[in-house]
Amino acid sequence: MKILVVNAGSSSLKYQLIDMDNEQVIAKGLCDKIGLEDSNVKHKAFDGREYAAEVKMPTHSEAFETLMYALIESDAKVIDSYDEIGAIGHRVVHGGTYFDKSCLVDDEVAEKVEELRELAPLHNHPHYLGIVACTKTFGKEVPQVVVFDTAFHQTMPEKAYIFGIPYEYYEKYKVRRYGAHGTSHKYVSERCAAIMGREGDKDLKIVTCHIGNGASISAVKGGECVDTSMGFTPLDGFIMGTRSGGVDPSALTYIANKENMTPDQLSDMCNKKSGLLGISGVSSDNRDVSAAAAEGNHRAALANEIQRYQIAKFVGSYIAAMNGADAIVFTAGIGENDPVLRTEVCKHFEYMGVKIDEEKNKIRGEEVEISTPDSKVKVYIIPTNEELAIAKDTLAIVNSL
Ligand code: ADP
Repeated sequence: MKILVVNAGSSSLKYQLIDMDNEQVIAKGLCDKIGLEDSNVKHKAFDGREYAAEVKMPTHSEAFETLMYALIESDAKVIDSYDEIGAIGHRVVHGGTYFDKSCLVDDEVAEKVEELRELAPLHNHPHYLGIVACTKTFGKEVPQVVVFDTAFHQTMPEKAYIFGIPYEYYEKYKVRRYGAHGTSHKYVSERCAAIMGREGDKDLKIVTCHIGNGASISAVKGGECVDTSMGFTPLDGFIMGTRSGGVDPSALTYIANKENMTPDQLSDMCNKKSGLLGISGVSSDNRDVSAAAAEGNHRAALANEIQRYQIAKFVGSYIAAMNGADAIVFTAGIGENDPVLRTEVCKHFEYMGVKIDEEKNKIRGEEVEISTPDSKVKVYIIPTNEELAIAKDTLAIVNSL
């Protein structure tokens, strides 16, 4: 079966068409700047053929028509008709406490995704628009499935998700830790269990480090998430490309008072101007920051150092949370590609017998064990594949109908 995986953002629509018989990507693309004058599509087929054009896309509806054109009619077409698409899987950022797993879309589910926009204003509404536009383009015959970034974290115990503020805010507004990147943490922890030959083992303890531009770490015990670093929103945890991670809230209110900032401006500062970018003043991109550090830029070097140190502290706290760890997994742009970060993080765990094979650690972006055979804890690079994970969940649900 061919499955269309869709990630609808506020002004963009990313997609992949995946053949689930061999798990190969048949085509992928991006409809960008939806709602703007210069909206455009970039599409690439598996054999390298490309289609790129400026197309008027005032809403997500036209974006779906454009992607269907790219798939079926363009010079880089990969299928002959709509009928070849067996199902559609939507990435949805927030499932609140309502969705603890992926599910089939019906009117009620679509409405619930929209209702949860309160918790993820920039994401859930576009996802809802994506579902509506998709239904308009494909009709109701093609099943649609929603896969939530938060769902994997719904197994966290109360002690991990309740914040230390008056309980009434949890009751009134559902303010709690939800986490994010759940699809990735689930995917790499399942891959890790499979590589170790310990699928279904309730005692298996894994710390998964998804370190990309956005970054989070999870503690996964027996296949279930028991804690995760992102919080009510993806801002919590440790420093990321432009996000601050956890900061003393009093420091923020102090700055807001000094600079006359509104809550929204404060949130903007923490989300978009902080992290690697804010500390280094160079860039939010890890490669740029590392390059500047290598040239002697102190703030860039400091940004790198803080990132690695904070990651190590989270890994350490999750090892404590699980009373041990059998494996540590690195994934996403930085986790898969930055040997120095992996070495620096793992050095903090030499005391408990973690040993890195520096030759293997040079490997980038491949599924590989980078610890030595006598390391007491296995360390892996496992490239994440959120689109494939979404397609797999979609297939499983469609097959169960
Ligand atoms: P996101 O999906 O959150 O936007 P990614 O997972 O694509 O982010 O990760 C982007 C980050 O990965 C950037 O900071 C980039 O510099 C870093 N990265 C990508 N390739 C490399 C590399 N070869 N070496 C070091 N860092 C890399």
